Formats: sequence, structure tokens, C-alpha cells
Amino acid sequence: MTLRLHNTLTRRIEEFHPLEEGRVRIYTCGPTVYDTAHVGNFRTFLFEDILRRYLKWKRYQVVQVRNLTDVDDRTIHAAVAQGVTLRELTLPFIDAFFRDHDRLGLERAEHYPRATDYVPQMVEMVQRLVERGLAYEADGSVYFDISEFPSYGELAQLDRASLREGRETGDAAYDKGDARDFVLWKGGERPEEGDVAIWDSPWGAGRPGWHLECSVMAIEHLGQPFDIHSGGVDLVFPHHTNEIAQAEGATGEPFARLWLHAKHALLDGRKMSKSQNHYYTVDDLVDQGYQPSAIRRLLISAHYRGELNFTLAGLDDASRSVERLIDFRRRLRASRSDDRGLEATRLPELADQALRDFETALDDDLNVAEAWGALFVFVREANATLDRAGERVPAADADAALTAVDSIDQVFGVLALAEGEAGAVSEELRSWVEAKLAERAAARAAKDYGRADAIRGELAERGIEVEDSPAGSRWRLVR
Ligand SMILES: [Zn+2]
Repeated sequence: MTLRLHNTLTRRIEEFHPLEEGRVRIYTCGPTVYDTAHVGNFRTFLFEDILRRYLKWKRYQVVQVRNLTDVDDRTIHAAVAQGVTLRELTLPFIDAFFRDHDRLGLERAEHYPRATDYVPQMVEMVQRLVERGLAYEADGSVYFDISEFPSYGELAQLDRASLREGRETGDAAYDKGDARDFVLWKGGERPEEGDVAIWDSPWGAGRPGWHLECSVMAIEHLGQPFDIHSGGVDLVFPHHTNEIAQAEGATGEPFARLWLHAKHALLDGRKMSKSQNHYYTVDDLVDQGYQPSAIRRLLISAHYRGELNFTLAGLDDASRSVERLIDFRRRLRASRSDDRGLEATRLPELADQALRDFETALDDDLNVAEAWGALFVFVREANATLDRAGERVPAADADAALTAVDSIDQVFGVLALAEGEAGAVSEELRSWVEAKLAERAAARAAKDYGRADAIRGELAERGIEVEDSPAGSRWRLVR
């Protein structure tokens, strides 16, 4: 089956085929590291994690870039205000970002370029734009001349009549109805910025504009054109609009083929926002006793283009939903029997159906809500099957169900995360497990499979997974 995705460029759902057979190149706009990211920011990053994981699930090789914006208006102003260098300001926030990133179970991208490491390439791109007549210098700064670029604003569906005379100098999102020439290189006198971010250029000392950074880092790591560019919906204009103008203007080549944009998360019905002091960080929620697996579950519960209202009641539901999955998996493991005399169950058929429904849902523009629905229908029906079978099912049937759960979790990543949260094994538990395993080995040797299964069930109850091999039994705590 073919994945279909909504392309902001065409406002249509399109079949996805990578430019290069079997390999997908993705650029995902990363955090501006002047502050700690909040869970609303992670909604977008998690949608991109689902995209990445699902492409891998469909057997594509993925090359993903997520940049770290470590020089822009906000980082510079924060560094000046605190009297520190840009590196001193941004490094702790980069660490905090990766800490939350890993706690929420995001897979690592292949590249995390930092803007400050690419300034020479940024200068080159500006030079090329000047040579091609698409940029001009004014007072030590260089601006992109939007009147010289006929397709300017297509992504945001700007009306060309709305293009204004004059220049936009800031990085902040300006209004669509006020599209002006935007800054590529910021030079000239900037006493309010001190000397925290100054590089040499043919136009004198200065620093790059924010939009320019992403165009350069994308081309540097992915080539041009590449497959997918994504971010939050607030980036459509001006950020992504300007990225396209710069990259295509400088090279004459198309930039990215498909543009995906996630809607903002709300918090109690209002947009999550640092400036309004209306947000939670991962730490805030962990301090209140919530597990990151539940935060992940809630943040990936709704379609990326649809509304997601983050509430603590929703997070409580998400915690219960994760518990239910853990219980289900534990119960499957405990019911798994080596008794050859047991009757076959519907579990393999239910597992196949769940995987098919899961794939159909995600192929439909990553409809995670439907995909979760498929998983929980499976849990309900499989639980009913286990009830009827008296908690003992053929090993192959239990394995089919467990494999389906694991396969789905390769994309959702919630169970894998919950397992890591389970904690270490105590000495008391270790000696208890060893004693039980010895007892089970004896029962198996005596062909008392009922007793052996019962012990396996007891172990599973305490979250112990046993793996048998000719060399003996190995175990681990999964929860
Ligand atoms: Zn960007």
C-alpha cells in the first residue's frame, strides 16, 4: 500500500514516492535553543518522529536532518541580556533538548547541524543571490528582493498584490499581508546586539538571518531537491516561504518536494506559549508524577493537522491507556503455553487484521487516531479470546499477537519507552526469579507443562520475560 501525505504546497493529499528509490530525505526545523522547549514544541517533533518511524516501518531508509538554531534574534538577545557568549547560552539548552528528546522516545535523526557551524556556506548563498540579481545590499545588510522572484509566496498562497515595498529586518513571524524584502545578512551598526554574534562577510561584519540558516543546512546535508520538509504550521510564512525563495533563487533548482505542517497543541483550549507563560515542559509534568511514555501517548494521539488539546485529564487517560497496553502484553506472555494439546485461537487472525488496519490508517496521511483505534480494537478482542481460552493459548498464537503489538510499537514507541521507565532489578527479585526458573525447568523436565506454564505466568505477572533456547533460559525485566 502507498503512503499518502498532505502537501502544503498543493493543499492536496498526494501519493508519496521518494525521489531516490528506497531512500527518503527529510528536513525538520529544529528548536531555537535560547530556552527549554515545551511539550507543545514536542508535538511537532513527535509527529516528525512518527513520520520517520513509519517510513522505516515501510522499509524506507531515512536520512533526517534536524537543525539547532543557535543564532537568531532570540538567542542573541538572551545572550546579551545574560552577559554570556552564544555558546555559553545555547549549550545547556541543547543538552536539555536532547534530554527531553530521549525521554519522549524520539529516535535520533542522522544530523543535528548547528547554524553557527555553517556561516561560510551562508555567506556563499547570499553571494550567489546577489550575483543572480535576487538580493541587494543596503546599509551593510543584504536583503532578498521578493519582486525579482516570481513564485515568491506560493507555499503560503500569498496574493502577489499583497507584496509590499520596503524591508523586513526581524526574524519574528511577520504578517502574511505585509510580505516585504527580508534580510539575508544582518550587518551595519547593531549596538543592542553587542559582539556576541559577528562574522566577516563581503558586506562587512554581521550575522546570518534565521531563514537563510535552514536553506543552507538542508542543502548541505540532503542535496537539492530532497523529499520532505516539515515543521509547525506557524513556519509556513515567513520562514518556509523564505527558505524556498533563497534555496531556489540561489540554485535555480527546486528545494523540497513535499511540505508537511503540524498544527499547534493547545493547553486547556488555548495555544501553548512561552511568552504567555502558558505551557508545560517535560520536567513540569514528570515532577507531577507523570511518565514520559504517557506524555508521548497523548502528544501522538491526534492527527498532526487536527486539534490536540493537552490537559492533565487527557494525560491521566493517556497513562491508563499505556497501562492497558502493558497489561495486555504481560497477559499474552503469561498465557503463552507450550502445551501442544491446546486448541488454536483467533489471535493470529486478529493480529493480522490489526496490522492491516494500522497500516491503512497511517497510509492515510498518518492518521494516528485511527491507528490507535485499530490497536485498541485488537486489545479488546484479543483479551476476550484470552478470557475464553482460560489464560492458556498455544505459544504460536501468543507470539503472533505479541509480534503485532511490537510491530505497531515500532512506530508508536510507547511500550518501548514504558519499559525503560520500569526501573532496575532488585536483589530480592533476582533471587526469586532464579528460584522460579529452576522450579520451571524441573517441571518441564518432568513434562508437567501445566505447572511450567503456571510458573511462566507468575513470572510474567511480575514483568519478567523468559526466553528459552537450547543453552537454557534467559530472562529480563520488561516491566
Ligand atoms: Zn527552519
